[in-house]
Amino acid sequence: MPARFRWKPPQAPIPGKVGLLALDFEHGTLVLTEAGTKRQASLHVVAGRAGLAQHDPGGLEVLEADPAAFEQTLRRENHTLKRALTDPHLFSGIGNAYSDEILHAARLSPFKQTRSLTDEQVRRLFEATRGTLIEWTDRLRDEAGDQFPEKVTAFREGMAVHGRYGRPCPDCGAPVQRVVYADNEANYCAVCQTGGRLLADRALSRLLRDDWPRTLDELERRRRGS
Ligand SMILES: [Zn+2]
Repeated sequence: MPARFRWKPPQAPIPGKVGLLALDFEHGTLVLTEAGTKRQASLHVVAGRAGLAQHDPGGLEVLEADPAAFEQTLRRENHTLKRALTDPHLFSGIGNAYSDEILHAARLSPFKQTRSLTDEQVRRLFEATRGTLIEWTDRLRDEAGDQFPEKVTAFREGMAVHGRYGRPCPDCGAPVQRVVYADNEANYCAVCQTGGRLLADRALSRLLRDDWPRTLDELERRRRGS
């Protein structure tokens, strides 16, 4: 997540310390940087679609899926909604930030188990997932225009709950709550999503140990190994 692509003038040097790679093209240079001390970025060179497919975790593309496929994927394993939505083996392209926004839009608790959802709740989650992804794709495209997107951040103005701990929920005004785990933070509105309940500490630590993605990276490694 601290890695960024930047589009620079032709022959731009690789920046010291954070610079990992530069690809030179006629009209510019694509530079890959990674901030922080943890080195997590990796580069793979593949040949053909078959080579590329080996890197696809296989998650469902929700914008190309119908409600039945969505439901089938969601209920395949029993997980918390937060974990299911952010698992790239189940759903493609939904990270920490957008899962917070999707669950708020769907009025569902991040702690709810996927197999306990009613049909109506699954339908609501499907609509909220599509709506949130489409809305933010449009917003970010508008923002970047014809330019290379430079402002890459997980916290964006206009989000309802993500990155807004303690600030008022835009729909009900209650302060946004948070769950902190490893390097990540999940946000939700207790009034809109959990019937006003804050999860007790003990229940929360059990949940965090058993069924909560500590980081997406760790989740992927674990799934790959199993
Ligand atoms: Zn609210």
